[in-house]
Amino acid sequence: MAGRFETYIRPNRGFAAVPTHDGLTLVIAGWPHAELEANKSDIEGNYLKVFELAPPFLERIRAAKREVRFAGACVPNFFRKPFGPGWALVGDAGYNKDPITAQGISDAFHDAERCSGAVDEALRGVRSFDAALGDYQRARDRHAMPMYEFTCQLATLQPPPPEMQRLFGAIHGNAAAMDDFVRMNAGTISPAEFFAPERVGAMMAAASLRN
Ligand SMILES: Cc1cc2nc3c(=O)[nH]c(=O)nc-3n(C[C@H](O)[C@H](O)[C@H](O)COP(=O)(O)OP(=O)(O)OC[C@H]3O[C@@H](n4cnc5c(N)ncnc54)[C@H](O)[C@@H]3O)c2cc1C
Repeated sequence: MAGRFETYIRPNRGFAAVPTHDGLTLVIAGWPHAELEANKSDIEGNYLKVFELAPPFLERIRAAKREVRFAGACVPNFFRKPFGPGWALVGDAGYNKDPITAQGISDAFHDAERCSGAVDEALRGVRSFDAALGDYQRARDRHAMPMYEFTCQLATLQPPPPEMQRLFGAIHGNAAAMDDFVRMNAGTISPAEFFAPERVGAMMAAASLRN
């Protein structure tokens, strides 16, 4: 496989090739959770079938040599209360979401920072454990929820809802809006900010001026 990152989105399927080390390439294929049970009976066959949606890619896969066994992941989406008497949770233990938006590592670091700050306050007697850790939970949820919702929608691998399709049509060709969309996907701005009504209104208005 070539040494560059490639990603493909097709109806009900997403796949990507990621160069790793020693000339190896990680090739990821994803299908909706609803198809998990049916597809489990023939992982390799169903995996290869995904690439039929991009025939030149399939040809390259068929010419490549598989070096390791298949590794699969089915990630549940959940939030847990992240603290109780004498314990606290950070990262995936506290809340978990599909990896399609690739936010779990930075979120785990955010949690570690917020949680350790809260525990420090409790241990120094600045505030009670419950008050400090309660704020940790609220800050986590405020930060994570918009991306969580966006991620759960994206992870269905279904076409976006009509209003989202209209927005995508509007940002196409608007360099600043497309940059913001990429920033939002990278987690540097929140979906709450990107999808704020006044921002969406401005993107739609700019599109109608262009057309
Ligand atoms: C397929 C896939 C792709 C992903 N891609 C990305 C990506 O591109 N970017 C991104 O940011 N995130 C990605 N993620 C998510 C990311 O991996 C997680 O969000 C992140 O690793 C969470 O970190 P964590 O420290 O909370 O948990 P973990 O990384 O799961 O660490 C928990 C550790 O605790 C250990 N452990 C569990 N129970 C015990 C026990 N009882 N005693 C001792 N040790 C224990 C586990 O073995 C593990 O090593 C991906 C996840 C998956 C499944």
